[in-house]
Formats: sequence, structure tokens, C-alpha cells
Amino acid sequence: MSQDNHIESRRRFLKVAAGTTAAAVVIGGLPRFARAADLPHVAESDPTAKALGYVEDASKGGAKRKAGDDCANCQFYSGGPSGYGPCQLFPGKSVNAKGWCVSHAAKK
Ligand code: SF4
Repeated sequence: MSQDNHIESRRRFLKVAAGTTAAAVVIGGLPRFARAADLPHVAESDPTAKALGYVEDASKGGAKRKAGDDCANCQFYSGGPSGYGPCQLFPGKSVNAKGWCVSHAAKK
């Protein structure tokens, strides 16, 4: 094999490797979005939710809640500004962006 053939072969390998990596990133990222949207919603009757005083509607949070606090601006929340998203305190479930609980900690 000549030096030119060796270099060309190496270039082809690197192109295929780069394409495979890009495809893996795209394919690997899609299920993550789907999973976040598919998480079951935390019910207010859930024992952990009760213990934390979680409410679907932050305005019903009571005296412990500071005005303006809701899940969407809590550091434990990783969803969008509306709808439902994951909360670190409820693994495998999602909370309402407009919800609230006593563990609320403002995003920094
Ligand atoms: S910890 Fe934050 S995001 Fe989770 S339920 Fe409580 S207020 Fe919402």
C-alpha cells in the first residue's frame, strides 16, 4: 500500500467515525426528550407530595410560599416554563411548572 493510499484510507475512516458519532448524538438525544414528556405527573395525594406540601397550583401554596415562587423558577426543576417537567425531589415523575412545594429554592 502506498503512502497516498494509506492516507486516503485513513481519511475515509475518520469521516465514517465522525458521521457515526453525530448520528449517535442525535439518536441518543431524542429518547431523552420523549422520556421527560412521558413522565407520570406527581399527584397531590402522593405521600412525598403531601410531605412536601406540593400543590399543582402555586397560588394554593399557603402562607409558606413567597409570591412569584413556582416550580418553573425552582433550582430542582429542569422542565420548560409551562406544562410539566422533572423535579429532582420526585425522581421518575414530573411536576407542574406552575406548581410549588415547601422545598422550593430559587434558581441562581
Ligand atoms: S422542589 Fe421545586 S420543582 Fe420540585 S416540587 Fe418543589 S417547588 Fe417544584
